[in-house]
Amino acid sequence: MTLLDDTRQLTATGPVCDACLGRVFADRSFGLTNAERGRSLRIAAALDDDDDFDPVETADCWVCEGRCAEFDDWAARAAETVDDVAFDTYQVGTRTPPLIEENERLLREEIGAEPDAGEPFKMEFNREVGKRVGRHVDAEVDFERPHVQFVLDIAADRVEATINSAFVYGRYRKLERGIPQTEWPCRECNGSGRQGQEPCDYCDGSGYLYDRSVEELIAPVVEDVMDGVDALFHGAGREDVDARMLDTGRPFVVEVKEPRRRQVDVERLTADVNAFADGAVEVTELRLATYEMVERVKELPASKTYRADVAFDAPVEADALAAALDELDGATVEQYTPQRVDHRRAKLTRTRDVYTATGELTDPRHATVEIHGEGGLYIKELVSGDEGRTEPSLADLLGVDAHVAALDVLTVEGEDEPFEDESYFV
Ligand SMILES: [Zn+2]
Ligand SMILES: [Zn+2]
Repeated sequence: MTLLDDTRQLTATGPVCDACLGRVFADRSFGLTNAERGRSLRIAAALDDDDDFDPVETADCWVCEGRCAEFDDWAARAAETVDDVAFDTYQVGTRTPPLIEENERLLREEIGAEPDAGEPFKMEFNREVGKRVGRHVDAEVDFERPHVQFVLDIAADRVEATINSAFVYGRYRKLERGIPQTEWPCRECNGSGRQGQEPCDYCDGSGYLYDRSVEELIAPVVEDVMDGVDALFHGAGREDVDARMLDTGRPFVVEVKEPRRRQVDVERLTADVNAFADGAVEVTELRLATYEMVERVKELPASKTYRADVAFDAPVEADALAAALDELDGATVEQYTPQRVDHRRAKLTRTRDVYTATGELTDPRHATVEIHGEGGLYIKELVSGDEGRTEPSLADLLGVDAHVAALDVLTVEGEDEPFEDESYFV
């Protein structure tokens, strides 16, 4: 069987449009569209037979039922669904009606070809409509992770557009105590704000234990500027509610769902967030990031520096404090899961390194200590000993009960590399 014999047999099945005919031979002669392939074969067969050329109206095609004449139409419709959305990249997918898939199999069967010979309808539709969408919008095709994903649902005669999230990286400082990182649903009413018919009196009907959170002071502003429908906050760990986060701040990513704007002026956004947070929280180093940054802030091992105000139950000598801190400096600490920690967390003994430990007395019963330690080191327990669960501890080394009266986190930095890797920024 020659190519022209195949062509004659295929065109004898009924009206087959140029694209559907050409698609069977899509692996031949690159640089042609399938419609060009189909038309050329039809012409070649007519010449070979010295028959009159008999073109086929795409609308009459029994294989695609005319869909291959609708590339322009679908492209215009796709562009229209996102005409109020700013995006740089997109991708087109097609949901092929089962009937067309069946027709494609039947057509190929006619010449004994594999059911998937050449190219499937779906691929041609994706490519041809994809190309044409680019004429309506100022954006490029991206097969990896486009800003906008179109799905052409042909049977339903509908274009679905999914606007993928946008990501803003930054570092936050929490300048006031008593602010959780994320919204904390009231445990008395499970966040509903109600107890039966009445407003919950534990949370005053708000559903939350705290009226502010770092998340709520930052994420809504980013969501608003990017004109999204929701925003998620991803932090590189979290400090205790009663601890401040100072100095270089803690890395975070705000993920904005379905943003209509992606290119934002980060300096202006910084000013907007800081005005909204009104001194309770401050952000710095805001930058547009890739989606991989979410995992990076959550997973990258990070060391922390803490400053703790420590109170002792009995007077302590400056020399004794210096000696105890010397012991802790560079020590490997064994910590059994602290009593205060989430009861769902596994109970086990972990070892964590203290990189540096310094400090001085403010009076015989009080000291300020600064500790730089491996991620996961529990500082309150390192000071108190947690009734023997943490060893060594400042209290043990001094032989005096000690506890953290106030805690600040000063730095959160990657153990082996900085969070701010250029490849994670847009
Ligand atoms: Zn067709
Ligand atoms: Zn409540």
